[in-house]
Amino acid sequence: MTFTSKLPEITPSIFSVMGKMAVDYNAINLSQGFPNFPSDPALIALVDKAMQNGFNQYAPMAGVMELRKEIVKMVYKQHSHQYNPETEITITAGATQAIFTAIASVIKKDDEVIILTPAYDCYAPTIEIFGGKVVPVQLYAPDYDVNWEAVKESLSSKTKMIIINNPHNPSGKLFSEEDMERLSEIANDNELLVLSDEVYEHIVFDKKEHQSAARFPDLASRTFITASFGKTFHNTGWKMGYCLAPEILMNEFQKVHQFNVFCVNHPIQKALATYLKTPENYKQLSGFYQQKRDLFLRLIKDSKFKAIPSGGTYFQLLDYSGISDLGDVDFAERLLKTHGVATIPTSVFNVGNLDFKQIRVCFAKTNETLEEAAKILNKLSESTF
Ligand code: PMP
Repeated sequence: MTFTSKLPEITPSIFSVMGKMAVDYNAINLSQGFPNFPSDPALIALVDKAMQNGFNQYAPMAGVMELRKEIVKMVYKQHSHQYNPETEITITAGATQAIFTAIASVIKKDDEVIILTPAYDCYAPTIEIFGGKVVPVQLYAPDYDVNWEAVKESLSSKTKMIIINNPHNPSGKLFSEEDMERLSEIANDNELLVLSDEVYEHIVFDKKEHQSAARFPDLASRTFITASFGKTFHNTGWKMGYCLAPEILMNEFQKVHQFNVFCVNHPIQKALATYLKTPENYKQLSGFYQQKRDLFLRLIKDSKFKAIPSGGTYFQLLDYSGISDLGDVDFAERLLKTHGVATIPTSVFNVGNLDFKQIRVCFAKTNETLEEAAKILNKLSESTF
């Protein structure tokens, strides 16, 4: 039998490739973004309790009401925007499903969607699955500032949506209030929908605030916000997240959601509803990760890598041009196979694999792991690599 692939260019993601290679070569794994320390035992106990108490059948389609109310409360406290828990939120199987469902619910054949590259890897294929066209606007190292004029120039009569990710993976860039105002203006003037991927909403450094799309009323009125508990509570394997959107959009979202998964893990939703009642559980996250970022940067300060401190997320970019002229994919492969540290080359997130000679390191690791990795990174130079 022969058939034409819908996604002929898609190969296993860089995360699968580097993750497998890290295991094969027994390398310290700073590649895929997941913590190597446990989720809070109190949260795990709450999941256990929910199971023991019989919450083992389907949850409501949009999610457990108690959890929806707690999320909406949290968002109101942080961004002063009131979402309606009845009609403007859905609990999802991680942010990936929220992103997939949001795109599926609004993107039709030939719709154009602007993405800012380097971009998280699920956006482009999802747009293409539904016949949309990806229109990339490049962000450039070292600052990865958004050139809003370039965004405007990339608009056409077919532009339907723009996707942003703030704080930004892989660069760690934080969008400023001015960035969000520019985005709001462009979206309003051109009747665009917005998908604001905010999975790292609680990991923001140096006393800055997360400028959620929820803070900007005009923007919020045309935006799907996607978020992930996996990042916030150190349990990426639970695949639990949510989507917020105005009712008119959430209505469409739920039409797809109910035939995609219908509903998601019930006992975990019950547990999260209780856990979120203690705001300290998410409020301490920025401080926790800032210590890790600072420790890691201190540990490698005498190395040949150059780094601009990450503004948010649990990723740090490292410029290796003082060590090697190799392309970043080759550099990351040699770093893994020869020196035993797994990282992610950043060119894979750019159209045409634009290469800034930077690798991405995940610092959501125990201090011991960061120390071990730093010892290796500190030894690298042109002569030792
Ligand atoms: N968006 C971004 C920017 C991410 O980094 C990730 C996880 N790496 C996701 C979405 C997906 O989140 P989840 O694991 O909750 O599906």
